[in-house]
Amino acid sequence: MKVADINQLKISALLPSPKGVALALLEACRREDANISQIAKLIQTDPALSGRLIQRANATNLATRSITSVLDAVSRVGLTVVKQLAMGFSLIDQYQKGPCKQFDYQEFWSHSLLMAIAMQELGKTTRISSPDELFACGLMARIGCLALATIYPDKYAELIGKLTPGTLLIELEQQSLQTDHNELTAAMLLNFGVPGIYVEAAYFHETPSESDFSEGSRPYQIVHLLYLAKQIADFGLAKESEQNNRISELILLGGKIGLDTEAFGTFIDQVMQEWQSWGKMLKLSGVEPPPPFHKMMNASAPRQENVNDSSSLRILLVEDDPTSLVLVEGLLSNILGHTVFTASNGQQALSLSMEVLPHVVITDWLMPVMSGLELTRSLRATEWGQNLYIIMLTSIEDEEEIITAFDAGVDDYVTKPINIRAFRARLRAAWHYRKLQESWERDREQLKRFAAELAVTNRKLKHYALTDVLTELPNRRAGMESLSEAWSIASRTDQLMAVMLIDIDHFKRINDNYGHAIGDKVLQEVASSIRNIARKGDTFCRMGGEEFLVVCHNGNTDAKSAVLFAERLRQHVKEQKINIDDIQIQTSISIGVALKEAGMKSEDHLVNAADKALYAAKNAGRNKVFLALENKLINCNATH
Ligand code: GH3
Ligand code: MG
Ligand code: MG
Ligand code: MG
Repeated sequence: MKVADINQLKISALLPSPKGVALALLEACRREDANISQIAKLIQTDPALSGRLIQRANATNLATRSITSVLDAVSRVGLTVVKQLAMGFSLIDQYQKGPCKQFDYQEFWSHSLLMAIAMQELGKTTRISSPDELFACGLMARIGCLALATIYPDKYAELIGKLTPGTLLIELEQQSLQTDHNELTAAMLLNFGVPGIYVEAAYFHETPSESDFSEGSRPYQIVHLLYLAKQIADFGLAKESEQNNRISELILLGGKIGLDTEAFGTFIDQVMQEWQSWGKMLKLSGVEPPPPFHKMMNASAPRQENVNDSSSLRILLVEDDPTSLVLVEGLLSNILGHTVFTASNGQQALSLSMEVLPHVVITDWLMPVMSGLELTRSLRATEWGQNLYIIMLTSIEDEEEIITAFDAGVDDYVTKPINIRAFRARLRAAWHYRKLQESWERDREQLKRFAAELAVTNRKLKHYALTDVLTELPNRRAGMESLSEAWSIASRTDQLMAVMLIDIDHFKRINDNYGHAIGDKVLQEVASSIRNIARKGDTFCRMGGEEFLVVCHNGNTDAKSAVLFAERLRQHVKEQKINIDDIQIQTSISIGVALKEAGMKSEDHLVNAADKALYAAKNAGRNKVFLALENKLINCNATH
């Protein structure tokens, strides 16, 4: 724990500090020579403080005769405690209100007082420390909050405004103030001369697990008492609706200090009663004890609102020890809001689990009939048991045992006695696991659908990518693919191959005379002629504009058959009467044919040769078929 020396902090002058007698008392106690009678005299000058101290001294030792003088009071509770009490009372008197708008000063003191009284009563029950010392410790354990509200009234008000159920006050403090209430509490308590053991306990009172006190040591016990006192104080000041939800956690904590439910209820009621009478004496508002504990306990049925909550899990709890079963069940359902089913051995659990299909199984290890280990193995052997989240409850953290448990198929383990925070964290993991699984299943369904849609879309896309919109013939890209494929095959197998380039004659005139729309129709008609007349094994495409390419493979590739095909096509187009509305159009095409020859390095050469033949056909007057062969351009229909 790092605690800054308060006197070196720039803020020290701003810290809440006692006045009058309490201040004098603090000074007096710092002097080595201070003795009890001098201190008592000093206290007597403040009647309110005197009265409170006497009452304090009487609050603890009911067995002995009651105390009536300040001197007796001081000698009974001891100088250190007197000093702290004087401090605490002085601060309560001075800081009933303050500049921080969001900080509820009255509630702060009511809470502190309740912690003090809880600590006092816990001291009586557990005998871990003197009740007076514990009272003082409880009263000042959160003084750092008051300090922050005093030093940074505006920033702290803003910060409290941001506080939501999910956020930790201490984290917000660290973010915006670079310190937190626990650090300031510790610094102040050290400055007040509070023994180190209480300072450390106060520092860790919100998160005892973060202290490295060895289990069972006195600091360990005190920090846990403070933790419990804080829970009791939170409970006392919570709204009635919230109080119900806190009961099980409290009972569980009570069990840790050896109080059964009945005894703990009596204990809490006693604390609340004391709180009320001290509240009156200190003139604090907001000290309103909750209804009697056992009454609330009976009313604390499982929280209905959580049954449909998405954060709630279906849990099967398997435990043979009835006390432990009740406690853990209460914790799971009342505090954490899950739906819980219970079984007292593995066999029972196995049949129940088929019925209730839990998300999580929490099982004890050692049980009669069927152990947790056997249960785990049996569950994992089933198909649906694969996805269960299984948590094993173990008494000891023995590495060998834990490995055995994991080998059997558990996902996690929690050691007994159960630490609520750890348990909550573990269940959060289980919940995340369940969510992942759900979303994975959803994703899988979605992926399947998506893949199917994609396949269809891809098919469509491929079609669009390779098809000419106007003529619905394969487009240039598709044509080029067929061309190079055919070229490769022909090259590899030494087969013949031919191409023909087709161009509509004077097409510009059609556009000029009839308009572009009619031109389009003519293009479509010529395209379908090509499609209809093409032989099996020919591939064709629209190259662009009014130009088409036909690739002839297989048996269609010798010069003679290629030229015959071209000629048939030319004649067909020439004779075709294209009727659009009441217009009749006749057109013609010119065709250049080329054969794959030995010297050609690529398909481009082949197309170039066809292009030359086409050019020659145009030059020869159009409506002609020309063949490019061995560097010659041959007019194939010289008679026309
Ligand atoms: P030639 O006999 O020398 O081939 O004469 P031509 O008029 O057919 O030749 P040219 O290449 O000069 O003109 C082609 C015309 O085809 C030009 C362009 O406006 C037209 N064209 C190209 N694509 C389309 C189209 O998709 N629809 C229409 N309606 N016309 C097109
Ligand atoms: Mg057992
Ligand atoms: Mg052209
Ligand atoms: Mg043309």
